[in-house]
Amino acid sequence: MTTIQTRWDNSVFYTDSEDPKISQCVTSMEQEIATLASHCQHFSPWIDAAPPEPADYTDIIEQLSACYTREVTIGRQFRNTSMFIHSCLSVNARDTAASTWLPMLQQLGAKLSSATQPMYGFLARAATDLIEITNAHHTLGDLHFRLQQMRAISDQLLPVAQEQQLTKLAVTGLHGWGNLYKNLAGTLKCSVGEESTGLANAANYLSSIERPKRELAWRGINNAWVEQEQAVAAILNNINGWRIEEAASRSHTRALDALDRSCHTSRISRRTLDTMMDVTYQRRHLPQRALGTMANALGIDTLGPWDLMAPAPVQASGTIEFAEAIKIIADSFATFSAEMGAFAIEMAERGWIDCEETDNRSTGAYCGSFAEPREPRIFITFTGTMTNVITLAHELGHAWHNRVMQDIPEARTGYPMTLAETASIFAETLVRDTLLENAQNDAQRLEILWAEASTAAVLMLNIPARFEFEQRLVEARHSKFVTAEHLKATMRDSWAMWYENSLSEYDEMFWASKLHFSISGFGFYNYPYLFGYLFSLGIYAQKNQHGTQFEKLYRDILRDTGSMTAETLVEKYLQQDISEPGFWNNSLDIVEASIEKFEALANRIAINN
Ligand SMILES: [Zn+2]
Repeated sequence: MTTIQTRWDNSVFYTDSEDPKISQCVTSMEQEIATLASHCQHFSPWIDAAPPEPADYTDIIEQLSACYTREVTIGRQFRNTSMFIHSCLSVNARDTAASTWLPMLQQLGAKLSSATQPMYGFLARAATDLIEITNAHHTLGDLHFRLQQMRAISDQLLPVAQEQQLTKLAVTGLHGWGNLYKNLAGTLKCSVGEESTGLANAANYLSSIERPKRELAWRGINNAWVEQEQAVAAILNNINGWRIEEAASRSHTRALDALDRSCHTSRISRRTLDTMMDVTYQRRHLPQRALGTMANALGIDTLGPWDLMAPAPVQASGTIEFAEAIKIIADSFATFSAEMGAFAIEMAERGWIDCEETDNRSTGAYCGSFAEPREPRIFITFTGTMTNVITLAHELGHAWHNRVMQDIPEARTGYPMTLAETASIFAETLVRDTLLENAQNDAQRLEILWAEASTAAVLMLNIPARFEFEQRLVEARHSKFVTAEHLKATMRDSWAMWYENSLSEYDEMFWASKLHFSISGFGFYNYPYLFGYLFSLGIYAQKNQHGTQFEKLYRDILRDTGSMTAETLVEKYLQQDISEPGFWNNSLDIVEASIEKFEALANRIAINN
């Protein structure tokens, strides 16, 4: 038997960030991109002047196919190199060579997408008969869904030269603001009582068993951000200002607001989003009740914002070894699919997971992927808590999604965040369910149900509050620069709308302390989490109904996430309409049952004490 690895092995790609092969690869990509750009220029005249004659289609299809094949090859090299550099920086944020490569690769990525803009600009506007030919083509057919998505908003396109310029300017404009935030968050120090520490470490104290420590950490983090509030206000104003300006330029034919754009990227309809939010709002008392039960169990009247990540007040499971965590997860996965269980072990044995603490290690956890060979990697800092086990299961869910799509051409594997989070939360649910079934005593049961209840509170209250805040921010930014004071008031109002009386105070600096608002690449980096949560519960709920067929059904759903909208996916596999409240209410019924179990158990433990 091979042994479990705790550091990842990426040496099939490069030895380290100083490997001379990186520089050789970047130089060759530069040349390849220049060639691709000149070939793609052939399509420009057909965009700006007269469209091509059907007589020329054969020739055009050949050129398209050659350009696309070249793009796929460069894309794989690019993703391998970027993923490698990213992985170096995750384990050591001070890796100098990797830090130097990062912005160069960002530029290179912009050059690559700018190179193909004439081709995609042409395809987005081309006549239907030509598109039908590409759809039937053995190579170009892979682009079918991508083109369909692109063509749905082709009236938002700018002339190709402007699109290219925008892509290039965004590297140092829009994305520069996002980089500034990451830089600030990585270097800021805060005081937690007597201790001066980085934000990542202070954030760990928010899940301390000691309440005073949690409050000190929360206040310390917020004080550090108050000192930077002008800078973060500028970041949010400039990122959102850029998006508003860009949207205005694109609205030459039809106006699309920020949320419409976001829904298009998330592959859900606006109606689906509104329905999901409305149903969640109607049932907000459910997670609020969970917070009340948590407060009781902690022996306080009302939770403070620093208690939202408090662990269960029981010492059920001691420190869990990494190998043991892998076994717990593999066994849980195996109750559903033997192959999925074996895959969790394979990930750890092949050195595809990095979980050991290192100096200057990044915070958070993620699952990324190399392109050739197509292999997933998981980054996590594993310290042996139950939360770590669930996070690991979450990332392994993403990795499994990657594995089941392994043989599908890249162009049909790009899934939106809404559907990505479905696979990860499904995996979490599998593990929690098995842990609960196998729990030996009430303390262990409480630990699992506590984790479920606090997850429900984050996803059903915190995420919607973030969504509410961002909608209000975008609205306000249309007419003016939004000051730090205004941002604080807006955050308080957004929390009040969702948490109501379930907290003793609201987190008014949350717009600064939460990275997600400053991600330059995406707006509304929030509702997809709630979507993934409820959507995966909705799918999970079908488990018993479909019996032994369910494993295949689930696999087929995952395989189609790169080539369908969420609505089509559910219609095809589950014959349900997610734009109607019924689907979401079914998911919320599952949450309700879990919260009821949590309440009953917490009460029973309280009475016995
Ligand atoms: Zn995830």
